[in-house]
Amino acid sequence: MTVTEPEPSSKARTLALLPWIVLDVPSALGKDPKMLLSEIGVIAVVGAGQMGTGIAQICAQRGYRVLLADAALERAKSGKLAVEKQLGRLRDKGKLSASDCEQASTRIEASTAELAYPQADLVIEAATENRELKLAIFEQADALSKPQAILASNTSSVSLTLLAGRTKRADRVVGMHFMNPVPIMKLVELVRGMETNEETLATVRGLAESLNKTVIVSHDRPGFLVNRMLIPFLNEACFALDEGTGSAEDIDQGARLGLNHPLGPADLIGLDTVLAIARVLEQDFGDPKYRPSLLLKNLVAAGYLGRKTKRGFYVYDDQGAKVRPAP
Ligand code: NAD
Repeated sequence: MTVTEPEPSSKARTLALLPWIVLDVPSALGKDPKMLLSEIGVIAVVGAGQMGTGIAQICAQRGYRVLLADAALERAKSGKLAVEKQLGRLRDKGKLSASDCEQASTRIEASTAELAYPQADLVIEAATENRELKLAIFEQADALSKPQAILASNTSSVSLTLLAGRTKRADRVVGMHFMNPVPIMKLVELVRGMETNEETLATVRGLAESLNKTVIVSHDRPGFLVNRMLIPFLNEACFALDEGTGSAEDIDQGARLGLNHPLGPADLIGLDTVLAIARVLEQDFGDPKYRPSLLLKNLVAAGYLGRKTKRGFYVYDDQGAKVRPAP
């Protein structure tokens, strides 16, 4: 070294001595790493249920590589099969070319979360609606993901600020609340946690729009915007049914034809999910007006979770078609 060369800063010296820190150079130098939309190539979807598979499908159709993970690899594999079936249906109906169907399928890989996180530019968590479970997932995702990766949650109600608090990248944690069924519904509700930064919001907005979705933005309040309206509505329908005000079929016809809610019952969402959101509204607002109906609680306790378990307010066949009202 000549005398004219500047002394490296003590931080740079530390970086040179500790090569593994180089992986995290931007944050080590005090700059927040960021993930631009153009840099997103690999998306990890964690939770391969009805929402995770839908998210995986539309991301793969748009050209992203998708690593689909679940609590066990076998479940991730069944999730991938479900997406392939869905893509095949679109092909058979002439809505997707054979080559697009093939390419989208090959872009999805069944994985484990541990293998998926280090490769992902964006993680979309779509696991069961349970606060503790999601907190554990965020902690692990933060530990194993690239420093600049964005961690998004498809949660219907869990606070993004709370999830971000389990990470060291609160500015890169955001809600991406897709609607069910994901390939059909136009809306994505973005949720900004207390520390979500503008860059993160802009990147996920761009991503959602690239998936042909319309975006709304909610602050981090229980139920955000959509479920703040929807869940008390569905819960009220449960109270009305429980009180014998009308039959399940008439309540649904009322919602469909009188209110223009074409998707019908809570069975499609999953009664466990509806109950979990109702509980978050009740607890986090501290207002008993959100208390879940006893009927809803009993159905979930009995394991009747709606279409996904073939029984909820209705009984469903193996293809998920409604057969009759549940006894
Ligand atoms: P689901 O029950 O169909 O799927 C949940 C999946 O998460 C299951 O495959 C389960 O095995 C998996 N899982 C559980 N623990 C896990 C773990 N530790 N790691 C990885 N995966 C794990 O539920 P869903 O309807 O797909 O809901 C998923 C999320 O999407 C929830 O947060 C829910 O609130 C939200 N959401 C649901 C709807 C809806 O209408 N169902 C709409 C919008 C958002």
